[in-house]
Amino acid sequence: MHPRDQTIFALSSGRPPSAIAIVRLSGPMAESVIAGLTGKTPAPRMATRALLQDSNHQPIDDAVVLWFPGPASATGEDVAEFHVHGGRAVLSAMFDAIAKFENVRPAEPGEFTRRAFENGKLDLTEAEGLDDLIHADTDRQRRQALRQLKGLLGDRARDWRERIIAASALIEAGIDFSDEGDVPAELIAPALERIRALHDEIKQVLAGQGQSERLRDGLVVAIAGPPNVGKSTLINQLAKREVAIVSPHAGTTRDVIEVQLDLDGYPVTVIDTAGIRETSDPVEQEGVRRARARAAEADLVLWLADNGDAKAGHGGPTPTWLVRNKIDLVRTPPGEGGRHPEFRISAARGDGLSELIAALVGFAHDYFATSESGLISRTRQRGLLEETIGSLQRSIDVVEQGEELAAEELRRAATSLGRLLGRVDVEDILDVIFREFCVGK
Ligand code: GDP
Ligand code: ZN
Repeated sequence: MHPRDQTIFALSSGRPPSAIAIVRLSGPMAESVIAGLTGKTPAPRMATRALLQDSNHQPIDDAVVLWFPGPASATGEDVAEFHVHGGRAVLSAMFDAIAKFENVRPAEPGEFTRRAFENGKLDLTEAEGLDDLIHADTDRQRRQALRQLKGLLGDRARDWRERIIAASALIEAGIDFSDEGDVPAELIAPALERIRALHDEIKQVLAGQGQSERLRDGLVVAIAGPPNVGKSTLINQLAKREVAIVSPHAGTTRDVIEVQLDLDGYPVTVIDTAGIRETSDPVEQEGVRRARARAAEADLVLWLADNGDAKAGHGGPTPTWLVRNKIDLVRTPPGEGGRHPEFRISAARGDGLSELIAALVGFAHDYFATSESGLISRTRQRGLLEETIGSLQRSIDVVEQGEELAAEELRRAATSLGRLLGRVDVEDILDVIFREFCVGK
């Protein structure tokens, strides 16, 4: 049996233990499993309370179950949902009981969404929006992802694609009707006009789109400076603040390398460059590798210096703020009139941190320049739109040399938009995109 015809299951909620966990199944065996575990097929789309029992009639859990016959389900297939108590033992008993059924297997990351996509429940830009929504940490990221999920980009792309096909039909109609291969000017002129309009429209959407992609990736701030100036102390202070949302890459339990801040809805990652160090732990290595790569392309450097240092600085093209630490030790700091902003803090005591954070919010504000109208949130999407306008431009350029050439470029433009929507694509590209998704999605 092809893996695609098998029934998949996964934990679709967070990691155990939790009060409630949702186990989801999709595929032809969904009904047999839900009926097998509960003793009957529940009414469609109704939350139903049921005692779950394994094949030996041993109770597993008292649960709420939902039965969604396809195609009116999230994936387009038969879907069953079990809302169980979210303990490890409950889940392990559930998984054992489910895996006993024939042709039922654990889902790959993103496999539910992939099935939804393959069954036409959403286009690829919407699938990407769904993934972004799950991973959104801040409110602005959430709103951006929601725009994608609602299909705003997909709708525009579908419209552009239809109009390209219409323009191409005009040109090709001319080719068919002309014996010498010369398309009448009455057909070419309006077609060119349409192509130019499309070209300008897509170009406009591409312009000023940097913010949306940035919003997805976040602003990166690196903390640098000589040893013992208080870099670790500062990042640990930031991690303790309310604005800190995650600190996923701790080098040791004590030292945070990277902390993600939610500054007024903007995602800001602060990295302690000195905390980046060699490690033999493979899990840690991955964190260190990522932190190093991100620090290398930081958008802002906080250069920490001892308050007593007369001079401190950091060259390079990246904007750099001088942050003088340990003001609790030296009462009269030396003045330095520089072109960079300067801050005086005590990382240990917390003095001056509010001012520093307020300035970071201001920087984030300018950096993201609040583009609420952003449609594009991924490099993949931008690349395909650039391809599209490239082909449109070429079709205008080559039309003099022959209408067939122009028609060929228009077909390319339509194909690029088809890729954007996920209509035209080779399997391995889809594999890459869906692998990024969470298991259970
Ligand atoms: P790093 O090497 O730059 O990461 O520096 P650390 O954060 O490890 O700090 C070096 C030492 O300076 C530690 O003993 C800290 O407790 C101390 N330290 C850090 N910030 C302050 C501060 O604001 N005031 C004082 N008095 N000591 C500090
Ligand atoms: Zn340190």
